[in-house]
Formats: sequence, C-alpha cells, structure tokens
Amino acid sequence: MKALSGLLPEELFSALQLEKKFRAKQIFKWIADGARDFSAMTNISLKEREELAGKAVLFSTVISQTLRDPDGTVKLQIACADGGAVETVLLTDRQGRKTACVSCQIGCPMGCAFCQTGHIGFSRNLDAGEIVEQFFHLEDTVGKLDNIVFMGMGEPMLNLPEIRKAIRILTHPEGRALSKRRITLSTSGLVSGIRDLADNGPDIRLAVSLTSANSRLRTQLMPVNKTNPLPELKEAIRYFSDKTGRRVTLEAALMRGVNTSEENAREMADFARGLNAHFNLIAWNPVETLPFQTPDKNEIHVFADYLEKLGLNATLRYKRGEKIGGACGQLGKSSMQSSVH
Ligand code: SF4
Repeated sequence: MKALSGLLPEELFSALQLEKKFRAKQIFKWIADGARDFSAMTNISLKEREELAGKAVLFSTVISQTLRDPDGTVKLQIACADGGAVETVLLTDRQGRKTACVSCQIGCPMGCAFCQTGHIGFSRNLDAGEIVEQFFHLEDTVGKLDNIVFMGMGEPMLNLPEIRKAIRILTHPEGRALSKRRITLSTSGLVSGIRDLADNGPDIRLAVSLTSANSRLRTQLMPVNKTNPLPELKEAIRYFSDKTGRRVTLEAALMRGVNTSEENAREMADFARGLNAHFNLIAWNPVETLPFQTPDKNEIHVFADYLEKLGLNATLRYKRGEKIGGACGQLGKSSMQSSVH
C-alpha cells in the first residue's frame, strides 16, 4: 500500500485518483499538521476517508524506540517497511532551539575511520517519504522543530534527488512551510555534490566535515579524500559560497592526539584562508569498537586557541546525548551504529 508522506500535492492528486485538487491540498496539509491516519481528517466526509484508507497509508515507517537523555537530547529509532532501521536525533542548543538531525541512508558507503556507520557499510538510500517522516515523527514526539540538519547516518550528496524532494515537501507553503534558511546539509566532502548543490539548489546551508587539512591524515580518517583532494574541496567550497553568498561551516570531530596539534590547527587555518567559512569543533564521541579517544575540555580549548591565534573563529559544540548514543559519532549505536559528519 502506498505511503503518502513523500508526495507533493499534485502527486497526491494523481496517486489517489482524486476528483478535486483541493482535496489533495487538504490531505497534504493534514500530514504536515500531524494527522497520521485518515480518520483525523475531519473536513473530509467519513465515507471518503474510509475509501482513502483502503487505497493508501500516510506513513511507511514507525517509531520503534524513543530514548531520552537527561541533557534534553532525544533519539528515535525508526523502523522502515522493509525491516531497515534509521535513527533521528533532537538536538537542543543553549537558546532552546530544536534541531532534527536526520539520516538519509541506511548505513553509509564512505567508510570514515572514526564513524560506526562507516564500518557497517551501506544498505540503501532512504526515499523522500522516509526522510520527511523522521522529521514528523520527531515533531510528534517533542513538538515544533526549528531546524533540520542532514547529518545523521549516510552521505547526503549520494542521495540528493530524494533529499531535494524531501526539502520541497517540508518547505512547501501549503504544508509544513519550513524556511530553507533552517536547513543544513552536511557532507564528508564530495566535490561534485557541493558544486551540484551550488548550481541547482535548493538554497540551503552547507557544512563540510573537514576533520583534518593534512592530506595524509585526512585520507586515513576519511577515504573520500583520495578522490576528492583538499585543493579541489577548497575550490568547491569557494564556488558554493561565491554562488550562494552563504558562509560554509567546516566541521572537525576532534580525537585525542590525532588531529588536535598546533600543526593540525595551522593546516586547518591554511585551508580556511580565503574562504567564507566558520569552524565548528566537537569532541569525538566514544564508540567502544573504534580505536580513538575523546579529548578532554582542555585539549579542545587549547586547539580552539591555536585557531584563534591564527585569526580563525571556532564554535565549540559540546557533546550532547552521549548517554543514549545520540551524539555525533554515535547514531545507530543500538541498531545500525553511528555517524559523525
Ligand atoms: Fe558516512 Fe558521515 Fe559516517 Fe563518514 S561520518 S562514514 S560520511 S555517516
């Protein structure tokens, strides 16, 4: 049976073989407003609702588990119709803004050394409905969300068509009407994807998981660096910010004694020079099976000071949700294991 969450109003109209266009708009709006089955759609006659329920379902996924960390982080484990599982996390910042960190693939083919998802391999891309449903499941659980970031399991640039579709649904003025300014895509550094996003939109924010600007170290940590080397990555980031006028976020998951030296800071500063970019530093989160350690606060602050002395501002993002495996680097710990970028 079809799930309607991944369809735009015009697609709902044909999928349900409706007679009136406004009926498709009503159903689209109901889904955005929290209806999870047709019985909630009280401005449609009972008879028609029953007919619709025989033709389609609204969602294809269900929440299988909800985990809450005392720091306010919430993690949902979501079961897909084919037995696959993904995770979605609520992150709340100090101002109380709520961000949904959503997954775009089951597993991930990028193989980053510090990421559990990278170690379990790739299963498949999520479709637009499965992406949209993560956002709505989280709103059903915690109330209205302010932002969405594609930073969960998977490499978003490898699933751009479905992400574009999900964004069209979430930003649609007759649906959830989320502002594009509130959407961020985080990539491990796929140059062609960054250029594609710059050229073809949507006009959203971009974050790049840099982690290290030392080519040898970055290749060890992130194999994507072999085929998307730092000079090409830098040019793609410059192209993106020139074309969109947007500042790009460079992310670094800091691992004790791996990428936190003064030399590492100088290399990152050299990389960022001339770019319209800002650094986000976050302590790598412990994953038992991986050979890395979390730096202490002092090591992180010393590294941030190195960057500052080199003229760069960095935001320190403190770990959240660690206890429930919902922090960066831990997503999927209890089902498919984590992502970091
Ligand atoms: Fe994939 Fe991101 Fe994990 Fe790298 S960090 S393996 S791109 S999910």
